Amino acid sequence: TYFQVSESLLETTNLKLSVVKKLRLFCRVQGSVRRLTHLLEDVLLIGKAEAGKLNFKPSAMDLLAFCRDIVENSQMSTSSRHAIDFFMHGNCGDVQMDEKLLGHILSNLLSNAIKYSPQGGIVKFDVICSPETTCFLVQDYGIGIPKPDLEKLFESFRRASNVGSIPGTGLGLAIIKKCVDLHGGQIDIESETGVGTTFSVTLPSNGKILRQPTSEED
Ligand code: ATP
Ligand code: MG
Repeated sequence: TYFQVSESLLETTNLKLSVVKKLRLFCRVQGSVRRLTHLLEDVLLIGKAEAGKLNFKPSAMDLLAFCRDIVENSQMSTSSRHAIDFFMHGNCGDVQMDEKLLGHILSNLLSNAIKYSPQGGIVKFDVICSPETTCFLVQDYGIGIPKPDLEKLFESFRRASNVGSIPGTGLGLAIIKKCVDLHGGQIDIESETGVGTTFSVTLPSNGKILRQPTSEED
């Protein structure tokens, strides 16, 4: 793997490499470690969710600060230069959600929007708060998702047919779905190939899972 190659390179040719080259190799090693760690975390997370061991623990949170943090992290964790236009609408001061699960949802949505849209593109991130529900909208102007692929994307390791050489494992959306379900929320996709994609996630604002109406009641 790249990691092994770069590491042995650093060891054996220590003296002959310029500082710049060493730094570049070091960055590559770092990148590999980061990707590997991320993959391991995702695999563990989906395993935990599938074992029913992922818990929903809502608490009062500062949604604005939380979202700002996620936006900042998403911008830093990729080398691409995308602008994330982040806006909050309504009174978001009084929400109760599971911070960990919400973090997985938003970081995966933003990382996808960045990854599947052109360099220098704009990603729109809107949070719309109402007393009952909070809606998170992530919109990009990227490659889009072909219609036939849409319904299966929430399965683990599923990827759309148009990803080309863009790297990915197909775990992000499966993780998002589990986290949305634990909140008793809903996720929708609107997409057109070559135009762009909008993911919308709607969660109960107050940490109470909305009661699913039974067939007798409706
Ligand atoms: P990773 O596990 O690293 O997230 P991934 O990004 O390929 O890998 P998911 O996040 O689960 O996996 O997404 C599944 C698939 O859905 C992607 O491979 C891609 O085909 C499609 N997809 C998701 N988000 C977008 C988007 N914003 N624009 C276009 N295609 C998308
Ligand atoms: Mg992804």
